[in-house]
Amino acid sequence: MSLEQHRPFIEDLYRELHAAPELSLREHRTAARMAELLRELGLEVHEGVGVETAVVGVLRRGDGPTVLLRADMDGLPVTEAEQVPYRSTATDTFEGQATGVMHACGHDTHMASLQGALRILADQDDWSGTIIAVFQPAEETMDGALGMQGALRELFPAGIDVALGQHVMSGAAGHVVSAPGPVMAASDHLIVTVNGRGGHGSQPEKTIDPIVLGASMVLRLQTIVSREVAPSDRAVVTIGTFHAGTKQNIIPSSARFEVNVRSFEEPVRQRVLAAIERIVQGEAQAAGAPPATIERGERAPHTTNDPDASAAVGAAFDAAFGERHGVQQPVLGSEDFSYLPEVWGAPYVYWFYGGFDPELVAAARARGTFDVDVPSNHAPNFIPVMQPTLDTATTAMVAAARAFLA
Ligand SMILES: [Zn+2]
Ligand SMILES: [Zn+2]
Repeated sequence: MSLEQHRPFIEDLYRELHAAPELSLREHRTAARMAELLRELGLEVHEGVGVETAVVGVLRRGDGPTVLLRADMDGLPVTEAEQVPYRSTATDTFEGQATGVMHACGHDTHMASLQGALRILADQDDWSGTIIAVFQPAEETMDGALGMQGALRELFPAGIDVALGQHVMSGAAGHVVSAPGPVMAASDHLIVTVNGRGGHGSQPEKTIDPIVLGASMVLRLQTIVSREVAPSDRAVVTIGTFHAGTKQNIIPSSARFEVNVRSFEEPVRQRVLAAIERIVQGEAQAAGAPPATIERGERAPHTTNDPDASAAVGAAFDAAFGERHGVQQPVLGSEDFSYLPEVWGAPYVYWFYGGFDPELVAAARARGTFDVDVPSNHAPNFIPVMQPTLDTATTAMVAAARAFLA
């Protein structure tokens, strides 16, 4: 059967998933539903693959390449703002607080289109090889792909030939962008504890003030990107939290701040991380303070598309989409997708498709109000138009998989 015949299934599944999102590592109903659909299709199904809510389906069809197709499954602690008929009214607790839950990153479109693509591929009898469909939990918290690594290595010791993944974003529906090389940034999270010496606010000479010290660290860290990273390279250093003190006449004994680093290339990443260490400890020494403590928090890998595999996917997209296939610009957002092919050191390709009314997107671009008028991922109104978004995502997954299957 063709896309036209599977379209109602894909759209119904999308509405169902959109209305019932679940937070990272709590995708129990979603995972069970994915497994049920894979079984319906006659695939070999593995549940709890390294992570309780991870699901893998295998479609074997004789000799040929092994292609891994991935969709992530988690929603976000966001209360949905739009009034679409299939809106989410789900709630949960996140970090101790009650919150609405929403598929505000569009992972519902990834799941619906991958299930649709599997149905189309299962109908086609002119290919051979193996398809590994990964329904991955916890992309948003960067736990899912990493948690699946060991179990995937055991399940598929012979390795894979290529891994393919895609994401919806705030471009025009019907359009796909792909590119070789770096497409998404690595993300590093550092937690810095500034150690000082506390005392009375009226007697600074008896203290080492961690607030003043921390403030000079924060300012000096701003010079890494402006003065140490080449203008042709890209990096971001953001200090997202700074906490210290309890009362105006007490100098606290410590302060704490968190740093987020984004980079596209490993040498740039290493240089930035080394500069943070040097500046933090250098400032501590200049203040006569004990060394600061620097801890590592969550980390996301680079997403750097393999040149040959990207060329194959690019040619398939040119054939499938013509002028609606464009060049993907690197974005400083991060993904944990590349942890999956990392299991076997396999090449991979990750691309984006648009999810919003092409006329609205074009008009907003013309007015210069794209950033305001087109919802961005994680926004409470990030609801892709169903079509041609789902058709495009499904077609892209089928075309990319077919570029490798014999
Ligand atoms: Zn997201
Ligand atoms: Zn996402």
